[in-house]
Amino acid sequence: MATTRTVKIGPVEIGGSDLVVIAGPCSIESQQHLQDVATAVKSRGATILRGGIYKLRTQPDSFQGLGHDALKMVTEVRRQLDIPLISEVTDPRQISDMVDAVDAFQVGSRNMHNYELLKELGRTRLPVMLKRGFSGLIKEWLHAADYILQGGNEAVILCERGIRTFETTTRNTFDLNAVAWIRQNTPFPIVADPSHATGDSNLVTPMALAAAASGAHALMVEVHPEPIKALSDGFQALNYSQFEDLMNRLDRLMPALGRNLKVKI
Ligand code: PEP
Ligand code: MN
Repeated sequence: MATTRTVKIGPVEIGGSDLVVIAGPCSIESQQHLQDVATAVKSRGATILRGGIYKLRTQPDSFQGLGHDALKMVTEVRRQLDIPLISEVTDPRQISDMVDAVDAFQVGSRNMHNYELLKELGRTRLPVMLKRGFSGLIKEWLHAADYILQGGNEAVILCERGIRTFETTTRNTFDLNAVAWIRQNTPFPIVADPSHATGDSNLVTPMALAAAASGAHALMVEVHPEPIKALSDGFQALNYSQFEDLMNRLDRLMPALGRNLKVKI
């Protein structure tokens, strides 16, 4: 078993024994929206907030995120609620503005091979969560992580978010082999994202429990007050009561695995 190098997002450590839950909307829709979701997930035990500012959508007509306008909103919500936030960076030109507004950068699945972005993130001082490309081999994913390390930034976290296989009934195939393998063979903390891996809110809870059992250090889950109205990925978002149910189940499961669910920042 490799020793994991722990990484802190704000004050929250990922890679230790406690299971960390990162939750929030796919996209930030307004300041009120982010504040509402942040309050809901924090009060139910999430210790890191997620929220998309810049979105990379498959279709150009889909909602692309609020972009630059959302930077002030996240700064305000982080301050008011005292919760660290992670958000996706899609272009190296966004880094200088984002660096004071977020606690960690997320690199999305579509950018795992964007080496110029990875090199630039290697020069920053914030942690980087590198999502696996949906067609990325584990060894390509690790090479991508090396681009960040070689720039001088050692605070790298990996995130398994499902891969594309011959199966089309679910959005992706959740590669939990990869979660156990990364945990045993690399020094990187590993996050599992059952929302993008399944693409179906009904499957998120069972697969979140499975990911926790497979050894993930953290889970990332999309939550929305009214999933049906979400501007992106509503079909896979948990509502507040579903999220509460997930947290209760995790709280009961983790001691059986010799770990605890982290619920306080
Ligand atoms: C996301 O986290 O909202 C996202 C776009 O994920 P991925 O890059 O894994 O598709
Ligand atoms: Mn999403």
